[in-house]
Amino acid sequence: MKRRTFLEKTSLTSLSFTSAILLPGCIQSKKLTPTNNNELSPQEEGFPPFPIAICTWGFMDANQAAGEALMNNVSSLDAVIQGVHVEEQNIYNTTVGKGGAPDRDGNVTLDACVMNSDGNYGAVLCVQNISNVAALARKVMEETPHAILAGQGAEDFAYAKGFKKENLLTKDSEQAWEEWKKSSHYKPVINIENHDTIGMLAIDKNGDLSGACTTSGLAYKMKGRVGDSAIIGAGLYIDNEIGGAVATGLGEEVLKTVGSFLIVELMRNGMHPQQACEEAIRRIVNKSTNYKDFQIAYIAINKAGEVGSFCIHEGFTYMKFQDGKNMNVRSASYVK
Ligand code: ASP
Repeated sequence: MKRRTFLEKTSLTSLSFTSAILLPGCIQSKKLTPTNNNELSPQEEGFPPFPIAICTWGFMDANQAAGEALMNNVSSLDAVIQGVHVEEQNIYNTTVGKGGAPDRDGNVTLDACVMNSDGNYGAVLCVQNISNVAALARKVMEETPHAILAGQGAEDFAYAKGFKKENLLTKDSEQAWEEWKKSSHYKPVINIENHDTIGMLAIDKNGDLSGACTTSGLAYKMKGRVGDSAIIGAGLYIDNEIGGAVATGLGEEVLKTVGSFLIVELMRNGMHPQQACEEAIRRIVNKSTNYKDFQIAYIAINKAGEVGSFCIHEGFTYMKFQDGKNMNVRSASYVK
């Protein structure tokens, strides 16, 4: 794609963003109009590849926050944590942070992880009463001899580091849970547009790559359930020499194929991020007899700033901030 065509596309897209009404700290009240899955080459004449931030779903504000931070020269790790923080605080998002849907016993439990450009990783699993769990995962990475803290241990560590105790169950989430209990039918919804796990990847001005992934997991899961999002190689993987990948969707299925690690390894062997995401989805689909009943989506970026995305079912979009513009891009899917 020529630079001019790219600019035409992005300016059209950014028009649709400026017309979206944004409430402070809330998800966008108007639906985004995603562009089609358009693989853009940052190497096009005169186009600066970095910084770039991408994230799962239409989390426009979160990606914008990360993109602006990157433009202000912060590191990719700081940028992804600042970006996902927007959704962790968003009480109208029922799958991340405060306001997340509870497990079937009414507990909101969060999973999160981060990876930095040195290949370091930190995660917290099944944490209650703390909303900024990506920042907490970073603390685990930087200030403990461990990589993962779970449950009460993670919560106690958070208080020791000055995080404040919060009730994560909002009135709305509680009401929805009370309603759910009437049937207690457990069936994760295939696509929850713009309201899902946020996984974010960023390349800063130095060309260094980091990622973060944060979620309340599946609504009405069993107590103690942990999905893929905080598990290295499944929900997120970064190799600063190659690229990064992040997943959203049914965690049980992502875990079994270690999808994010797989994508990075496929890129190491020469695949474009788009092909690598397609192959990772194909592996799941080929092994599963019931892929029609669940959604999984991946986004990936390589060191050159090329981006790819693929999902099982139509409806998944991702955000891409580059060259000062924040675009919502429709992912290609296995099932049309
Ligand atoms: N992957 C998350 C989990 O399984 C959920 C999601 O992304 O929708 O916990």
